[in-house]
Amino acid sequence: MPELRQNPATKEWVIIATERAKRPEEFAPPRPELKVEALNHCPFCEGSEAETPPEILAYRTYGTKPNTPGWWIRIIPNKFPALVPQGNIRRSKQEEFFRYMDGVGEHEVIIESPRHNETLALMEQKQVEEIFLAYRERFITLSQDPRFEMVMLFKNHGISAGTSVLHPHSQVIATPITPMHVRHRLEEAMRYFDDNGECVFCAMIQKELAFKERIIFDTDNFVAFVPFAASSPFETWVLPKKHDSSFQSITPERVKELGFMMKMTLLSIHKSLKGPDYNYVIRTSPSHEKDVEYYHWHIQIVPRVSSVAGFELGSGIFINTVIPEDAAHFLRTLPTA
Ligand SMILES: [Zn+2]
Ligand SMILES: [Zn+2]
Repeated sequence: MPELRQNPATKEWVIIATERAKRPEEFAPPRPELKVEALNHCPFCEGSEAETPPEILAYRTYGTKPNTPGWWIRIIPNKFPALVPQGNIRRSKQEEFFRYMDGVGEHEVIIESPRHNETLALMEQKQVEEIFLAYRERFITLSQDPRFEMVMLFKNHGISAGTSVLHPHSQVIATPITPMHVRHRLEEAMRYFDDNGECVFCAMIQKELAFKERIIFDTDNFVAFVPFAASSPFETWVLPKKHDSSFQSITPERVKELGFMMKMTLLSIHKSLKGPDYNYVIRTSPSHEKDVEYYHWHIQIVPRVSSVAGFELGSGIFINTVIPEDAAHFLRTLPTA
Protein backbone atom coordinates (compact mmCIF):
# COMPACT_ATOMS: atom_id res chain seq x y z
CA MET A 1 0.00 0.00 0.00
CA PRO A 2 1.48 3.43 -0.90
CA GLU A 3 1.90 5.75 2.05
CA LEU A 4 1.46 9.51 2.44
CA ARG A 5 3.96 10.91 4.92
CA GLN A 6 4.15 14.42 6.35
CA ASN A 7 7.38 16.16 7.32
CA PRO A 8 6.68 17.58 10.82
CA ALA A 9 9.05 20.52 10.23
CA THR A 10 7.82 21.71 6.85
CA LYS A 11 4.30 20.20 6.96
CA GLU A 12 4.86 19.03 3.40
CA TRP A 13 3.37 15.73 2.34
CA VAL A 14 5.14 13.19 0.15
CA ILE A 15 3.99 9.95 -1.40
CA ILE A 16 6.21 7.00 -0.57
CA ALA A 17 5.36 4.94 -3.62
CA THR A 18 5.75 1.43 -2.26
CA GLU A 19 3.88 -0.01 -5.27
CA ARG A 20 6.38 1.54 -7.63
CA ALA A 21 9.29 1.27 -5.19
CA LYS A 22 12.66 0.52 -6.62
CA ARG A 23 15.56 -1.18 -4.96
CA PRO A 24 18.28 1.35 -4.01
CA GLU A 25 20.75 -0.47 -6.30
CA GLU A 26 18.66 0.57 -9.30
CA PHE A 27 19.78 4.17 -8.72
CA ALA A 28 23.43 3.23 -9.06
CA PRO A 29 23.90 2.47 -12.76
CA PRO A 30 27.42 2.49 -14.17
CA ARG A 31 28.24 6.17 -14.77
CA PRO A 32 30.93 7.57 -17.03
CA GLU A 33 34.07 8.73 -15.24
CA LEU A 34 34.12 12.43 -14.38
CA LYS A 35 35.34 13.98 -17.62
CA VAL A 36 38.39 16.18 -17.33
CA GLU A 37 38.07 19.21 -19.58
CA ALA A 38 41.03 20.81 -21.28
CA LEU A 39 42.59 22.35 -18.19
CA ASN A 40 43.78 25.53 -19.91
CA HIS A 41 40.17 26.47 -20.64
CA CYS A 42 38.90 26.38 -17.09
CA PRO A 43 38.91 29.81 -15.39
CA PHE A 44 38.73 28.15 -11.95
CA CYS A 45 41.99 26.21 -12.32
CA GLU A 46 45.19 27.38 -10.66
CA GLY A 47 47.06 29.56 -13.17
CA SER A 48 43.89 31.04 -14.72
CA GLU A 49 43.36 33.67 -11.99
CA ALA A 50 43.41 36.53 -14.53
CA GLU A 51 40.32 35.08 -16.25
CA THR A 52 38.06 35.65 -13.23
CA PRO A 53 37.03 38.84 -11.40
CA PRO A 54 39.56 39.71 -8.63
CA GLU A 55 39.31 37.46 -5.57
CA ILE A 56 37.30 38.48 -2.51
CA LEU A 57 39.15 36.08 -0.25
CA ALA A 58 41.64 33.27 -0.69
CA TYR A 59 43.38 30.78 1.57
CA ARG A 60 46.88 30.92 0.13
CA THR A 61 50.49 30.17 0.96
CA TYR A 62 52.16 32.94 2.95
CA GLY A 63 53.97 35.38 0.68
CA THR A 64 51.99 34.66 -2.51
CA LYS A 65 50.18 37.61 -4.10
CA PRO A 66 46.39 37.88 -4.55
CA ASN A 67 45.11 36.66 -7.93
CA THR A 68 48.19 34.54 -8.57
CA PRO A 69 48.77 30.80 -7.98
CA GLY A 70 49.50 29.55 -4.45
CA TRP A 71 45.93 29.26 -3.09
CA TRP A 72 43.97 26.22 -1.96
CA ILE A 73 40.54 27.90 -1.68
CA ARG A 74 39.56 30.99 -3.63
CA ILE A 75 36.37 33.08 -3.46
CA ILE A 76 35.45 35.35 -6.37
CA PRO A 77 32.41 37.36 -7.48
CA ASN A 78 30.25 35.41 -9.95
CA LYS A 79 31.04 36.69 -13.45
CA PHE A 80 27.36 36.42 -14.39
CA PRO A 81 25.68 37.32 -11.09
CA ALA A 82 22.00 36.71 -10.36
CA LEU A 83 22.06 39.85 -8.17
CA VAL A 84 24.51 42.77 -7.97
CA PRO A 85 25.84 44.71 -4.95
CA GLN A 86 24.75 48.19 -6.14
CA GLY A 87 21.22 49.62 -6.18
CA ASN A 88 18.24 50.53 -4.07
CA ILE A 89 16.65 47.97 -1.75
CA ARG A 90 13.31 49.79 -1.53
CA ARG A 91 10.34 47.83 -2.89
CA SER A 92 7.95 49.51 -5.32
CA LYS A 93 4.88 51.06 -3.70
CA GLN A 94 2.53 48.71 -1.83
CA GLU A 95 -0.54 49.68 -3.88
CA GLU A 96 1.10 48.86 -7.19
CA PHE A 97 -0.22 45.63 -8.69
CA PHE A 98 3.15 44.44 -9.98
CA ARG A 99 5.76 44.95 -7.28
CA TYR A 100 9.43 45.16 -8.11
CA MET A 101 12.75 46.29 -6.75
CA ASP A 102 16.36 46.56 -7.89
CA GLY A 103 18.18 43.24 -8.10
CA VAL A 104 20.49 44.04 -5.21
CA GLY A 105 22.52 41.28 -3.63
CA GLU A 106 25.77 39.41 -3.67
CA HIS A 107 26.65 36.37 -5.74
CA GLU A 108 29.97 34.65 -5.09
CA VAL A 109 31.70 31.48 -6.19
CA ILE A 110 33.73 29.43 -3.74
CA ILE A 111 36.37 27.52 -5.70
CA GLU A 112 36.96 24.48 -3.54
CA SER A 113 40.29 23.37 -4.95
CA PRO A 114 43.00 24.61 -7.33
CA ARG A 115 42.74 21.24 -9.09
CA HIS A 116 40.10 20.50 -11.69
CA ASN A 117 39.29 16.84 -11.41
CA GLU A 118 38.50 16.60 -7.72
CA THR A 119 35.25 16.05 -5.93
CA LEU A 120 34.38 16.94 -2.35
CA ALA A 121 33.64 13.34 -1.38
CA LEU A 122 37.17 12.26 -2.29
CA MET A 123 39.15 15.29 -1.08
CA GLU A 124 41.51 15.26 1.89
CA GLN A 125 39.67 15.71 5.16
CA LYS A 126 41.64 18.91 5.90
CA GLN A 127 40.57 20.48 2.59
CA VAL A 128 36.88 19.80 3.28
CA GLU A 129 37.24 21.38 6.72
CA GLU A 130 38.79 24.48 5.15
CA ILE A 131 35.96 24.72 2.60
CA PHE A 132 33.46 24.82 5.45
CA LEU A 133 35.61 27.37 7.30
CA ALA A 134 35.48 29.53 4.15
CA TYR A 135 31.68 29.11 4.03
CA ARG A 136 31.51 30.29 7.63
CA GLU A 137 33.71 33.31 6.95
CA ARG A 138 31.61 34.50 3.99
CA PHE A 139 28.41 33.71 5.81
CA ILE A 140 29.33 35.86 8.82
CA THR A 141 30.48 38.78 6.63
CA LEU A 142 27.42 38.78 4.36
CA SER A 143 24.99 38.31 7.27
CA GLN A 144 26.34 41.48 8.86
CA ASP A 145 25.45 43.55 5.81
CA PRO A 146 22.21 45.32 6.81
CA ARG A 147 20.95 45.24 3.20
CA PHE A 148 20.71 41.47 3.13
CA GLU A 149 17.98 39.43 4.79
CA MET A 150 19.03 36.02 3.67
CA VAL A 151 22.33 34.33 2.87
CA MET A 152 21.99 31.11 0.92
CA LEU A 153 24.93 28.80 0.49
CA PHE A 154 24.59 25.95 -1.96
CA LYS A 155 26.39 23.54 -4.19
CA ASN A 156 25.39 22.28 -7.63
CA HIS A 157 27.36 19.19 -8.55
CA GLY A 158 26.88 17.91 -12.09
CA ILE A 159 24.63 18.69 -15.02
CA SER A 160 21.37 17.35 -13.53
CA ALA A 161 22.09 19.50 -10.46
CA GLY A 162 22.27 22.64 -12.60
CA THR A 163 25.91 23.21 -13.44
CA SER A 164 28.06 22.52 -16.47
CA VAL A 165 31.25 23.65 -14.71
CA LEU A 166 32.99 20.53 -13.48
CA HIS A 167 35.66 22.31 -11.43
CA PRO A 168 34.65 21.79 -7.77
CA HIS A 169 32.87 24.90 -6.53
CA SER A 170 29.94 26.11 -4.47
CA GLN A 171 28.05 29.39 -4.45
CA VAL A 172 26.62 31.92 -2.06
CA ILE A 173 23.82 34.37 -2.83
CA ALA A 174 22.72 37.09 -0.41
CA THR A 175 19.25 38.54 -1.04
CA PRO A 176 17.50 41.68 0.25
CA ILE A 177 14.28 39.71 0.83
CA THR A 178 13.23 36.53 2.65
CA PRO A 179 11.45 34.46 0.00
CA MET A 180 8.08 32.76 0.62
CA HIS A 181 9.65 29.31 0.42
CA VAL A 182 11.90 30.12 3.39
CA ARG A 183 9.27 32.18 5.22
CA HIS A 184 6.82 29.28 5.05
CA ARG A 185 9.34 26.94 6.69
CA LEU A 186 10.10 29.48 9.42
CA GLU A 187 6.40 29.94 10.15
CA GLU A 188 5.74 26.20 10.37
CA ALA A 189 8.67 25.82 12.78
CA MET A 190 7.36 28.77 14.80
CA ARG A 191 3.88 27.25 14.93
CA TYR A 192 5.29 23.94 16.22
CA PHE A 193 7.23 25.84 18.88
CA ASP A 194 4.10 27.75 19.96
CA ASP A 195 2.11 24.52 20.25
CA ASN A 196 4.74 22.34 21.90
CA GLY A 197 7.28 24.64 23.54
CA GLU A 198 10.20 22.95 21.81
CA CYS A 199 12.05 23.14 18.50
CA VAL A 200 10.62 20.72 15.95
CA PHE A 201 14.10 19.90 14.64
CA CYS A 202 15.40 19.11 18.16
CA ALA A 203 12.36 16.83 18.57
CA MET A 204 13.04 15.22 15.20
CA ILE A 205 16.69 14.54 16.10
CA GLN A 206 15.61 12.79 19.34
CA LYS A 207 13.07 10.65 17.46
CA GLU A 208 15.53 9.72 14.72
CA LEU A 209 18.31 8.84 17.17
CA ALA A 210 15.91 6.65 19.15
CA PHE A 211 14.49 4.96 16.01
CA LYS A 212 17.96 4.48 14.41
CA GLU A 213 16.63 3.05 11.10
CA ARG A 214 17.03 6.29 9.13
CA ILE A 215 20.38 7.37 10.63
CA ILE A 216 23.38 7.40 8.27
CA PHE A 217 26.09 8.90 10.51
CA ASP A 218 26.19 10.10 14.06
CA THR A 219 29.12 12.00 15.64
CA ASP A 220 29.44 13.82 18.99
CA ASN A 221 27.80 16.98 17.71
CA PHE A 222 26.15 16.17 14.39
CA VAL A 223 23.74 13.66 12.93
CA ALA A 224 22.94 12.73 9.32
CA PHE A 225 19.71 10.95 8.44
CA VAL A 226 17.20 10.37 5.67
CA PRO A 227 14.08 12.26 6.82
CA PHE A 228 10.90 10.28 7.60
CA ALA A 229 9.14 12.10 4.74
CA ALA A 230 12.12 12.43 2.36
CA SER A 231 10.78 14.03 -0.81
CA SER A 232 13.22 12.33 -3.18
CA PRO A 233 15.34 9.16 -3.15
CA PHE A 234 18.31 9.40 -0.73
CA GLU A 235 17.53 12.96 0.40
CA THR A 236 19.69 13.49 3.49
CA TRP A 237 19.69 16.05 6.30
CA VAL A 238 22.73 16.94 8.39
CA LEU A 239 22.00 18.80 11.63
CA PRO A 240 23.90 19.98 14.72
CA LYS A 241 22.59 17.98 17.70
CA LYS A 242 22.59 21.00 20.00
CA HIS A 243 19.99 23.63 19.21
CA ASP A 244 21.31 26.45 17.04
CA SER A 245 19.23 28.53 14.65
CA SER A 246 21.99 30.05 12.57
CA PHE A 247 24.99 28.69 10.72
CA GLN A 248 26.61 32.05 11.62
CA SER A 249 27.20 30.96 15.20
CA ILE A 250 29.08 27.71 14.52
CA THR A 251 32.57 27.70 16.10
CA PRO A 252 35.69 26.90 14.05
CA GLU A 253 36.11 23.70 16.12
CA ARG A 254 32.60 22.51 15.25
CA VAL A 255 33.13 23.44 11.60
CA LYS A 256 35.90 20.83 11.48
CA GLU A 257 33.56 18.16 12.77
CA LEU A 258 30.91 19.29 10.28
CA GLY A 259 33.52 19.00 7.50
CA PHE A 260 34.16 15.41 8.59
CA MET A 261 30.44 14.66 8.70
CA MET A 262 29.85 16.13 5.23
CA LYS A 263 32.81 14.32 3.74
CA MET A 264 31.63 10.98 5.14
CA THR A 265 28.03 11.54 4.02
CA LEU A 266 29.01 12.65 0.51
CA LEU A 267 31.46 9.78 0.29
CA SER A 268 28.75 7.26 1.06
CA ILE A 269 26.47 8.89 -1.54
CA HIS A 270 29.34 8.91 -4.03
CA LYS A 271 30.25 5.26 -3.45
CA SER A 272 26.79 3.76 -2.99
CA LEU A 273 25.16 5.57 -5.92
CA LYS A 274 28.29 5.61 -8.11
CA GLY A 275 28.99 9.34 -8.22
CA PRO A 276 25.55 10.86 -8.82
CA ASP A 277 24.92 14.56 -9.41
CA TYR A 278 23.65 16.30 -6.29
CA ASN A 279 22.75 19.60 -4.68
CA TYR A 280 23.14 20.68 -1.12
CA VAL A 281 21.95 23.81 0.59
CA ILE A 282 22.53 25.25 4.04
CA ARG A 283 19.14 26.16 5.50
CA THR A 284 19.50 28.70 8.27
CA SER A 285 17.50 31.49 9.89
CA PRO A 286 17.44 34.92 8.19
CA SER A 287 20.34 37.26 9.06
CA HIS A 288 18.20 39.47 11.28
CA GLU A 289 16.59 36.55 13.14
CA LYS A 290 19.86 35.04 14.29
CA ASP A 291 19.12 33.52 17.71
CA VAL A 292 15.65 32.03 17.69
CA GLU A 293 14.29 29.08 19.66
CA TYR A 294 12.05 27.73 16.92
CA TYR A 295 14.44 27.26 13.98
CA HIS A 296 17.45 24.93 13.72
CA TRP A 297 19.98 25.23 10.89
CA HIS A 298 20.70 22.17 8.77
CA ILE A 299 22.14 21.03 5.46
CA GLN A 300 19.82 19.38 2.97
CA ILE A 301 21.54 17.09 0.45
CA VAL A 302 19.55 15.99 -2.60
CA PRO A 303 21.11 13.43 -4.98
CA ARG A 304 19.67 14.08 -8.46
CA VAL A 305 18.65 10.54 -9.31
CA SER A 306 15.01 11.20 -10.21
CA SER A 307 13.15 14.03 -11.91
CA VAL A 308 10.01 15.93 -10.96
CA ALA A 309 6.97 16.03 -13.24
CA GLY A 310 3.51 17.56 -13.62
CA PHE A 311 1.98 16.11 -10.48
CA GLU A 312 4.75 17.59 -8.32
CA LEU A 313 4.45 20.91 -10.16
CA GLY A 314 0.70 21.07 -9.59
CA SER A 315 0.40 19.65 -6.08
CA GLY A 316 3.76 20.26 -4.43
CA ILE A 317 3.52 16.60 -3.36
CA PHE A 318 6.65 14.73 -4.31
CA ILE A 319 6.62 11.05 -5.16
CA ASN A 320 9.56 9.19 -3.65
CA THR A 321 10.17 5.74 -5.08
CA VAL A 322 12.71 4.67 -2.44
CA ILE A 323 11.46 3.94 1.06
CA PRO A 324 13.46 6.28 3.37
CA GLU A 325 14.45 3.44 5.74
CA ASP A 326 15.83 1.45 2.78
CA ALA A 327 17.67 4.52 1.46
CA ALA A 328 19.37 5.07 4.85
CA HIS A 329 20.31 1.41 5.14
CA PHE A 330 21.80 1.52 1.65
CA LEU A 331 23.85 4.67 2.37
CA ARG A 332 25.03 3.33 5.72
CA THR A 333 26.43 0.21 4.15
CA LEU A 334 29.48 1.58 2.33
CA PRO A 335 30.55 -0.62 -0.55
CA THR A 336 34.19 -1.62 -0.19
CA ALA A 337 35.01 -1.38 -3.89
ZN1 LIG B 1 39.35 23.77 -13.53
ZN1 LIG C 1 16.48 22.85 17.67
